[in-house]
Amino acid sequence: MKWNQYFSTRILDRGYDYYQSNAVRVLDSSSEFIEANVMGSSLYNVRINFIEGEIVSMYCNCPYGDNCKHLAATLYYSFSLKVYTIKV
Ligand SMILES: [Zn+2]
Repeated sequence: MKWNQYFSTRILDRGYDYYQSNAVRVLDSSSEFIEANVMGSSLYNVRINFIEGEIVSMYCNCPYGDNCKHLAATLYYSFSLKVYTIKV
């Protein structure tokens, strides 16, 4: 499954804006996870877990409660690093 199918178009757009405005700070990462802070209306903690490039779970502590723009922003950022093997 393509990573962006987890998100609505509107959330992807908002996430891309966050990524472009340098709202994402990666705290730790490997080929199996990325952990980041995303500065939105508050500072949110994001963690995304991967197995062989596929997303297996995503977590963000914002009130949105679903696959949110902070997660999308973190994924855009991870592509920019080009150190992950997320399937696109
Ligand atoms: Zn969020």
